[in-house]
Amino acid sequence: MSKTDEYEVLIIGAGPAGMTAAMYCGRAMLRTLVLERGLAGGELLNTEVIEDYPGFEHILGWELAQKFESHAKKFGAEFVQETVTCVRKQDDGTFEAETESGTLYRAPAVILTAGGTPVKLGIPGELEYAGKGVSYCAICDGAFFKGQTIAVVGGGDAAVEEADFLTRYAEKVYLIHRRDELRASKILQKRLFENPKITVLWDTVVEKVEGDAQGLVTNLKTRDVKTQEERDLAVSGIFVFIGFRPNTGIVEGHVAHDDLGYVVTDQNMETSMKGLFAAGDLRAQLTRQVTTAAGDGTTAAIAAEKYLKALKDEGGVPMIVRTGGYAV
Ligand SMILES: Cc1cc2nc3c(=O)[nH]c(=O)nc-3n(C[C@H](O)[C@H](O)[C@H](O)COP(=O)(O)OP(=O)(O)OC[C@H]3O[C@@H](n4cnc5c(N)ncnc54)[C@H](O)[C@@H]3O)c2cc1C
Repeated sequence: MSKTDEYEVLIIGAGPAGMTAAMYCGRAMLRTLVLERGLAGGELLNTEVIEDYPGFEHILGWELAQKFESHAKKFGAEFVQETVTCVRKQDDGTFEAETESGTLYRAPAVILTAGGTPVKLGIPGELEYAGKGVSYCAICDGAFFKGQTIAVVGGGDAAVEEADFLTRYAEKVYLIHRRDELRASKILQKRLFENPKITVLWDTVVEKVEGDAQGLVTNLKTRDVKTQEERDLAVSGIFVFIGFRPNTGIVEGHVAHDDLGYVVTDQNMETSMKGLFAAGDLRAQLTRQVTTAAGDGTTAAIAAEKYLKALKDEGGVPMIVRTGGYAV
């Protein structure tokens, strides 16, 4: 197992939250390393077009990802492609991040921005048509379905709330649920049942997503789990809300989280573990968007800088101030 040079801040994940944090840490002249398991961009790379990031009325997901990355690098943040398997706090108060390749990276502060993963249905056509009618985000993609017929899958708060929200755009919304009652809160259910644009298909599962020659969703193959009756449902979109798993399992030891596993932070994005900050989709909060991830990343970076400064003032972990200036 090899050990690397020490850094002042380690950022786990290069999505919008991580890359914004990296930019601010770089500007603060902190020796910053971003550890990303894939290509920099996070969920931006799974998003065709972004239409709600201020300043960009229409930008491709990968294009925005590249802008975030080059902006962070411009201010000196280093990026390494590594999958982090464990983040642990050591007796001296510093953190160690271990990666799949067996390398250990050390720093007195860590910003966790590993995002999360929407739970998939795991049916034929789902991945093939992702971004072409299959979506996991109503705020992001709802406006693409103006006047159309779509389906929402799920029975919890997210599915019911988003089905109601999507009727702002869609002409008709089928809520498809595999059971004969919903898990969602009663107030949300009341709103759902009162909405004339929504039809609930009880005891029903989607077995296949089908599309046309242009590669856009046109039909769902569904099955009634009680009668086994199969049915074709003509829709141009399917929104899947059957859960979201925050990628928080890599932290060793207990970090406060909510019932769904999202990390709880204070207003400075600091977790219950001192020196460990969290930002973006894995944090407990009202909504999950590129703007909120970037905002969280900003706060986390500035809070981490203050944390490191306080440590230095207390004579704790020394600050390593870069002298090279920005790599423009
Ligand atoms: C299909 C889709 C469309 C969307 N459309 C929009 C939209 O139009 N507008 C909008 O505002 N929002 C949209 N969103 C939401 C938005 O993309 C997210 O809110 C945002 O990307 C969250 O940023 P993040 O940095 O917190 O997490 P992510 O973007 O998820 O980035 C997390 C990063 O961490 C990395 N990572 C995870 N675990 C590890 C590990 N162990 N080691 C190293 N790296 C790791 C991942 O590879 C990933 O790159 C969409 C989301 C989806 C799924």
